[in-house]
Amino acid sequence: MNCLLCEQKLASTPSWQSLFAIETTSLICENCSKSFNRVDIKEEGDVVDQLTSIYTYNEAMREYLHQYKFLQDVALAGVFANELRGELARKDVIVVAIPMHPQKKVERTFSHVEEMLAAARIPFVDLLIKTNTEVMGEKTKEERLSMRNLFSIKPVSDIRKTTYILVDDIYTTGTTLRHAATVLKEAGARRVEAVTLIRAEK
Ligand SMILES: [Zn+2]
Repeated sequence: MNCLLCEQKLASTPSWQSLFAIETTSLICENCSKSFNRVDIKEEGDVVDQLTSIYTYNEAMREYLHQYKFLQDVALAGVFANELRGELARKDVIVVAIPMHPQKKVERTFSHVEEMLAAARIPFVDLLIKTNTEVMGEKTKEERLSMRNLFSIKPVSDIRKTTYILVDDIYTTGTTLRHAATVLKEAGARRVEAVTLIRAEK
C-alpha cells in the first residue's frame, strides 16, 4: 500500500496490535504524518461547553483539505480516523456531524465530516439541518452576531438531556458551532461539546 498523500510505499511492519486486530494502521507515511501540526487545544465556554481542536491549519493541512474536499478524494476521509476516535469514542455521548447545506452537498458530492466519522467507525446522528449557505469568512463580526440561527433541528428528532458532541472539520470564527449548540440546548440538550479536526483562528 502507498501513502495516500505522497504515494510513497508504506513500510509494512506487522505489530502485535495488528495480530489482535486493534486498528492502528495509518493511511499515510511517517513523513506526511509529521507535516501536520498537532496541538490538542481544549477550551471551556458557555454556549459550546468544551471545544477541542486537534491540529493547526498549516500548509500540509491546507493541501490535505484541498485534495479531500475540493478535489473530492473521498479515500482521504480515513487519514485522521485514529485521532478522531481518540477524541470521540466515549460512552454516554451523542455525536452529531455539522451538516452541509443540501445544495452544497450536491456540489461537493459527499459530506466530508460524515465521511470522516464513518471512516473512523464512530456512530453519529443526523439531527441538524443547515438552513443557510452563507460563508462566515465573508462576514464581519457584527454581521455574524446578528444572524438568524444557521441550523434547525430535524422535525422528528428527540433531543435528550445528555451530552452531545458536534463535529466539524475546521474551526474558524466559532459561529457555526455556537449556532448548532444553541439549537441543541434550546431543544433540551444538557451539555454540548465540539471537536474540530483543525483550528484556523484568524
Ligand atoms: Zn506520505
